[in-house]
Amino acid sequence: MTNIVNILYLVACFLIILSIRTLAVPRSARFGNILGMVGMLMAFVGAFISVNLPNFWVVISIIVVGGVVGVYAGLKVKIASLPQMIAVFNGFGGLAAVCIALSEVIDFSKNYFDNMIGLVIGGLAFSGSMVAFVKLQGFISGKSVHFPLQQALNLLLLMIVLVLGSSYIVTQDIGVFLVLGVLVLFLGVLLVLPVGGADMPVIISILNACSGWATVGIGMSLDIMLLVIVGSIVGAGGSILAYIMMKSMKRSFFNILTGNFINSNLLKDENVKMAQTGSPEEAAFIMENATKIIIVPGYGMAVAQAQYAVKAMTDLLQNKYGVEVKFAIHPVAGRMPGHMNVLLAEANVDYSEVFEMNDINNEFSSTDVVYVIGANDITNPEAKNNPQSPLYGMPVLDVEKAKTIFFVKRSLGVGYSGVENPLFYAPNTIMLYGDAKDVTEKIVKSLELN
Ligand code: NDP
Repeated sequence: MTNIVNILYLVACFLIILSIRTLAVPRSARFGNILGMVGMLMAFVGAFISVNLPNFWVVISIIVVGGVVGVYAGLKVKIASLPQMIAVFNGFGGLAAVCIALSEVIDFSKNYFDNMIGLVIGGLAFSGSMVAFVKLQGFISGKSVHFPLQQALNLLLLMIVLVLGSSYIVTQDIGVFLVLGVLVLFLGVLLVLPVGGADMPVIISILNACSGWATVGIGMSLDIMLLVIVGSIVGAGGSILAYIMMKSMKRSFFNILTGNFINSNLLKDENVKMAQTGSPEEAAFIMENATKIIIVPGYGMAVAQAQYAVKAMTDLLQNKYGVEVKFAIHPVAGRMPGHMNVLLAEANVDYSEVFEMNDINNEFSSTDVVYVIGANDITNPEAKNNPQSPLYGMPVLDVEKAKTIFFVKRSLGVGYSGVENPLFYAPNTIMLYGDAKDVTEKIVKSLELN
């Protein structure tokens, strides 16, 4: 039996690693998902047959209820709500690690260090993720929550947790372990409270990594290599993703945990400036006469679900008017990594037309028209030119270098960072006010008629 279980675990690890490799390429992502599901199923069967279950039917009932909730959540969740769903699932991963660590300690397990790691990191992942979920779901303000001496309290708690964690390993006192558990849950809440706004997806990624590292601790404690391998993948993946997001938004780990984000309206007194406006019909005329167009999608395209209209517009421009059309994707466009890629893939945009920022940024100067649809921060030239801007240092798309820039949005309002965009007032910018889907559909209609 042990051999069968080991083989199942080995194949599960192989499939899960292969799944992540395949998920990296949009064309094979669906297949990658299936590989991951089969891998998880094998891991599950392996775990199931490796233990003697005293309460067989209770366990089966729990699995059925959990499975139904998981399938329902997966089918019902909207793309914009994915971050909070991931937060909840991270949290449950952390809670599972805490429960296993507790049961191991009660069972006189001698893997003191591994259990302590499972408890501390799992506890942080659980309580932190619950706060993140509550904020993202809008139950409490998604903004930073601050109170006097907050950072001093967090630092003090962190030190107490480190001291108690070490003293548990030395004393092996179950009382210390329980106090440690309570403090860690409290610390998780306090650490995530000051995080807000655009930093939320980053903290979710960090908590995701935490649930992975907690799984590694539990895997070592239970001596299950599968948990160590899969936990390491989740831990490393979450950490790398958080690093990429922090780098793309020019945020540090410390700034995120202290909620230190300066929202400023640097252009407030310049608001009297007039932005040029245009109509969808005028935009259609300019676009059909262009040689090369780059489309820059952002969060507003996701909100408006305009990706299908964008695809229809692209098809007409390419097939009817012979225009070269490309898509430029900023690493943090939208509200989660890969947000725009998912939407464009959903609308069957050919992936050979979709380019990452670094691969397309030098093409804007030779482009006739940039169609910025529902994007704002990722095009803000203040990030390059104004050291006082909170966005300064964040790499952005060089859209201002194109001959004509169309901004499709409902107003001159700010994006997620709360920073105004001077590009709206540039002489080569034309604002197309309205809902992204609405405006693009009107352009499609004009392109069909012309
Ligand atoms: P922004 O948030 O900068 O701008 C989106 C714009 O879309 C808004 O200015 C809004 O303007 C417009 N909009 C909203 N709804 C509609 C609609 N229905 N039709 C047309 N326009 C609409 O988004 P970007 O994608 O440019 O940048 C992403 C931001 O999110 C960055 O600041 C990034 O740091 C942050 N972020 C991204 C993460 C990621 O992983 N992708 C993670 C964390 C944060 P108006 O109201 O005038 O319509």
